[in-house]
Amino acid sequence: MYPYSPRTENAKCVICGRSSSLISKAIGICGDCIRKKPEEALAAVRRVRAESRRYAHSKGREYG
Ligand SMILES: [Zn+2]
Repeated sequence: MYPYSPRTENAKCVICGRSSSLISKAIGICGDCIRKKPEEALAAVRRVRAESRRYAHSKGREYG
C-alpha cells in the first residue's frame, strides 16, 4: 500500500472532480463530462482559458 503514486499526477476534472490520467491538463475536463455535459464543459474550458494561471475549482461556480 502506497500513500500515493509518485508517477501518477492525474489532472482533475473541474466539473465532476474526478481525477484521471485521461483528463487533459490543458482543459481539465474528463471525456464523460465533455460528452454528457457539453455546455458545462465548454463554459469550463472558457474559464480555464480565461484564468490559465489559476486553478479552476469546481466549488463556487458563478454560472448556472
Ligand atoms: Zn468530469
